[in-house]
Amino acid sequence: MTSFIPISQPSITEKEVAFVTDAVRSGWVSSLGPYIADFEQRFAAFCGTRHALTTSNGTTGLHLALAALGIGAGDEVIVPDLTFVASANAIAYTGATPVLVDIDADTLCISPAAIERAITPRTRAIMPVHLYGHPADMDAINGLASKHDLVVIEDAAEAHGAEYRGRRVGSLGRCGVFSFYGNKIITTGEGGMITTDDEALYLKAKRLRDHAMSPTRRYWHEELGFNYRMTNLQAALGVAQLERIDELIRKRREIMSWYQEELGALPGVRLNRHAPWAETVYWLVCMEVDAFDEASRARFMASLRDRGVDSRPYFYPVSDMPMYSAASPTPVAHSMSRAGINLPSFVDLTRADVRHVCEQVVLSLKEVHDR
Ligand SMILES: *Cc1c(COP(=O)(O)O)cnc(C)c1O
Repeated sequence: MTSFIPISQPSITEKEVAFVTDAVRSGWVSSLGPYIADFEQRFAAFCGTRHALTTSNGTTGLHLALAALGIGAGDEVIVPDLTFVASANAIAYTGATPVLVDIDADTLCISPAAIERAITPRTRAIMPVHLYGHPADMDAINGLASKHDLVVIEDAAEAHGAEYRGRRVGSLGRCGVFSFYGNKIITTGEGGMITTDDEALYLKAKRLRDHAMSPTRRYWHEELGFNYRMTNLQAALGVAQLERIDELIRKRREIMSWYQEELGALPGVRLNRHAPWAETVYWLVCMEVDAFDEASRARFMASLRDRGVDSRPYFYPVSDMPMYSAASPTPVAHSMSRAGINLPSFVDLTRADVRHVCEQVVLSLKEVHDR
């Protein structure tokens, strides 16, 4: 038994070492090189989209997608209040306003009813987030988008391989954006990807990613672009991870079933949702305790840490951050955020590890409640 069980760690095998070594040895260390196109083509095939474009990380991927869609100052983009702050930040980078709305308690994802209430003449786009690996209710969201002529950008940073009614996330809106940070479903160290069927959007994003350089005239730039490229080294790691993704997702589902066995029957405790139309990939193991408030949750996490088990609080509502505010209250996001923690969630956990973690969880819950 390891002495301290972290919340997350990447799964690295000899395949990853071999591919990255090959990329380094080849001399193609920057953003040209064969692994880039290979990673993009295979990731597009995995998601079921015509195109995929690598980026330097998920945040730049979101910013690039928004910029390529022409979203900017004066526009509003509707985004859930419960998400990693990058979703809202990417919108703010363009000069547009993130409109933070509430979530549904049964998915933790953006509430279609809340989207509808937030639509104004300035609304240009909706950015659903497939939170903790569970897809948002995309039929309802796409229905609203077509009714009001809005663009849908999926923030799929936490949900590689998750399915909505049999289709993979990243293929369900105008475009999808993924992250390959070290704790995501697959990693490239840092990295991101935009997926889309829209050829014009793909070509525009590709140009903006490289300082909007003219394809016919080198070092000629007609508009403001970025350097948001991934390196061939990162893509080599990504190709190795992508070859293993089915196994990695299967393992996550197995680990979640162990958590369900151990903790699923505890009164006042909720684990990850699984809507009937969803195939979730369980990015992080989620546990909400009805009795938690900010102070008791902090005591619980400290107790768990003393017992050698790492955990994380759920994201705070973005509207609580000093640079943002919500147009209307988001009670569900607030109550879920307060009640939730994430438990160790990585594919090298064994059955014995999960049993050990859950025993410590039960002891720490007792400790906090008995005070
Ligand atoms: C991780 C994450 C991002 C940002 O990805 P980075 O690669 O870390 O920039 C964006 N949105 C969500 C929901 C995320 O979890």
